[in-house]
Amino acid sequence: MSKTAIIIGGGVAGMETAGQLNRLGIEVVLIEKQASLGGHLKNWDRLFPDRRESQEVFDYLEKGMNDGISLYLNATISDIREAGGKFTVILEDGRELSSDALVLATGYDLFDARKKEEYGFGIYDNVITSAELEEFFRNNKQKNLFEGVQSKRVGIVHCVGSRDEKVGNLYCSKLCCVTGVKQAIEIRELMPDAEIFCFYMDLRMFDRHFEEMYYEAQEKWGIRFIRGRLSEAAENPDHTILVKVEDTLTGLPLKMKVDLLILLVGFVPSPETKRLAGMLGLKEGDDRFLCPSDEHLLPNSTDHPGVFLAGTLKGPASIAATIVDARAAALQVAEYLVNGER
Ligand SMILES: Cc1cc2nc3c(=O)[nH]c(=O)nc-3n(C[C@H](O)[C@H](O)[C@H](O)COP(=O)(O)OP(=O)(O)OC[C@H]3O[C@@H](n4cnc5c(N)ncnc54)[C@H](O)[C@@H]3O)c2cc1C
Ligand code: SF4
Repeated sequence: MSKTAIIIGGGVAGMETAGQLNRLGIEVVLIEKQASLGGHLKNWDRLFPDRRESQEVFDYLEKGMNDGISLYLNATISDIREAGGKFTVILEDGRELSSDALVLATGYDLFDARKKEEYGFGIYDNVITSAELEEFFRNNKQKNLFEGVQSKRVGIVHCVGSRDEKVGNLYCSKLCCVTGVKQAIEIRELMPDAEIFCFYMDLRMFDRHFEEMYYEAQEKWGIRFIRGRLSEAAENPDHTILVKVEDTLTGLPLKMKVDLLILLVGFVPSPETKRLAGMLGLKEGDDRFLCPSDEHLLPNSTDHPGVFLAGTLKGPASIAATIVDARAAALQVAEYLVNGER
């Protein structure tokens, strides 16, 4: 009799795990709380590092969603029960779904920039987040951010909600530096006369092609990088934003007027993941992301037999890394279902 796996979360991680398991002959049930699949991916426009359309990655993932996968959208999980090695997931409308293994792929949330009140997000119109800028790019292809005004000044603030003891997040979100560099280039493409300043603590361009993008941003596009932490943003009467920064290279305080301030918001663990983890007794780390049973050797297994993890519920990761992780998860689930090993 064929085995069944339930996957919770239909973002990149959940879709790829589902597609891979299905190709291995395992029946898959995919549960997504939203009305459509894709998770955060569907909000992004062009992806780093090569600036391909996010739709291309979504199309690949969607192709994997064939007949062997039962899809439950708009689904809220009210409980998870376990008996005799079988899991039963109970949905809010009373439906019960059962399986031999469970994969949590519930992803991450964006840091709520309102928590950094001193940056003025939610108070001043011209302070937006990197996620909102992606939405703008996605919906307004080729449109000038400032409707016809050519020469404008834009500030990009790194580490918003990450590496910040005050908000309780000591970890680095890993991908906001490269997102900021990508977005700076994209703004210059749309507005060749715009002046762009990135305010950073240190740049973490760790992955392949990232450092090259940073060079391109400086040499080809003239984007300026100022090492310093923003202390405050205040609105001027003309709705421009006055930013106060301490330049940590020169040691001098700096004041600058910008027309638009973009906050590079980080990843935070989602309360939904915490809720489901609580039902299953799963471990979370000091950073509140979930922990596998062995970071080196069993990165997708948990201490709970039959329960697996895939994607960014374990911490910040790119789409490429998430796809690799989802494939590893599928293999670990298949091994468990065939050989009982985790
Ligand atoms: C501003 C920004 C820009 C980015 N740009 C890029 C880029 O250009 N290139 C790149 O490689 N990476 C980029 N990333 C990273 C990328 O977003 C992640 O790698 C990717 O989204 C991770 O996928 P995931 O499936 O782990 O999580 P998610 O995308 O968060 O998907 C999780 C899914 O689980 C669902 N879910 C959650 N809880 C439940 C529940 N209880 N029941 C059912 N479903 C649930 C959610 O609705 C969601 O659909 C960017 C990140 C940010 C913040
Ligand atoms: S990736 Fe860059 S912007 Fe994001 S938290 Fe790390 S250092 Fe800060």
